[in-house]
Amino acid sequence: MRVSVAGAGLGGLCLAQGLRQAGIEAEVYERDPAITARFQGYRLVLNPAGFAALQGCLPPRWHPLLDAIVGDAYGERLVLDPRLNKIGELGPGRTGTVVDRHVLRHLLLTGLTVHTGAALTGYDVLDDGRVEARFADRDPAVADLLVGADGIGSRVRATLSPRTTPIDTGVRFVIGRTPLTEQFAGLSRAFGSKIAGDGVSLLLGAMRFRTPPKQAAEELAPEVTLPDVRDYVRWAMILPPAGSAGPSPQEAVLSKMDGWHPDLRALVEQSDPDNSTLLSIRVVEPGERWAPGPVTLLGDAIHATSPTGGNGANTALRDADLLRRCLADGRQDLLGAVGDYERQMFEYGAEAVRHSLDALPAFVPQRESV
Ligand SMILES: Cc1cc2nc3c(=O)[nH]c(=O)nc-3n(C[C@H](O)[C@H](O)[C@H](O)COP(=O)(O)OP(=O)(O)OC[C@H]3O[C@@H](n4cnc5c(N)ncnc54)[C@H](O)[C@@H]3O)c2cc1C
Repeated sequence: MRVSVAGAGLGGLCLAQGLRQAGIEAEVYERDPAITARFQGYRLVLNPAGFAALQGCLPPRWHPLLDAIVGDAYGERLVLDPRLNKIGELGPGRTGTVVDRHVLRHLLLTGLTVHTGAALTGYDVLDDGRVEARFADRDPAVADLLVGADGIGSRVRATLSPRTTPIDTGVRFVIGRTPLTEQFAGLSRAFGSKIAGDGVSLLLGAMRFRTPPKQAAEELAPEVTLPDVRDYVRWAMILPPAGSAGPSPQEAVLSKMDGWHPDLRALVEQSDPDNSTLLSIRVVEPGERWAPGPVTLLGDAIHATSPTGGNGANTALRDADLLRRCLADGRQDLLGAVGDYERQMFEYGAEAVRHSLDALPAFVPQRESV
């Protein structure tokens, strides 16, 4: 069996690793001209199920490396005012494993065949039941199965399920990262908490690697090359619905922080301007089903969640693990395996989107009064 995977995000790469373990040939096609073309190194919190799914797709010899390059999620989950005084509680503490997306992607890339600069434009199901993927700047690729792991704007979904389209929640946020120096260690109470300002919310999370990733790979799995990333604080400012980021994302955040605790302002001032971006919160709700065939979807392409749910990557990894197990299970044919995967994925995928939307209001500030 040969599988084409569109998209080298976490879901697509994790699937390709899982298939490789199962002896199934898989090639990944990524639109970006290089894996590092866009900086995508934010921190993710993986829950136990997401972490287990990731482990399930990786060769056991890399498990010690994986354990070394993650961190522990912690935080008091308080609501603080901009001077860091407690004014409420956000809910039960969120435990889990924190992982840097950029580092994890490098681990997942190891040993795979990944074609970059390969933007999928569409596909055709052939008379013999196989599928031919078409690309903007390269020859088509034929496989037994095409998996659209091409994110929220999925081109695969546009053909397979054209009525399933992203919904814009209207909520915008600016995300950035700042090296975790001594100065910011004292902000630990704010990690995992919400800082409620005037018309905005600021969320902070620490990424503390158990071992620096580059060093961990050199010591534990020399065949893996990981980037030299150090501990950092990930911050995200959620703006009111339809709020605008203004001049530059970083300046817009600072303009909302007059009178805030000096360490909070310093955190944004010292962030890397190249790594602060304005993002919109959009979701994809899986609804319409299609008859199982040689094309399927995975991750944000079919169930994009709001980041406030903290479950998009977890669900994409769960998809990857489930699909590789269905495909590797010799008891059913390809369409049976795809149908089995889709039946389960649709159910928990829809639930993940609902959960993330339920969590959104707690983080969205009220509109500033005029
Ligand atoms: C700020 C932020 C924080 C988050 N925090 C968490 C968290 O704590 N926990 C959690 O579980 N989730 C979190 N998420 C969500 C999580 O990052 C995503 O759900 C997850 O990365 C989705 O993975 P994916 O592989 O489906 O898609 P993506 O990671 O979006 O990957 C899709 C890939 O497909 C490529 N592509 C797109 N179009 C094409 C094309 N036409 N042809 C070929 N390739 C294409 C893209 O370039 C990209 O590389 C967060 C998201 C954000 C933005």
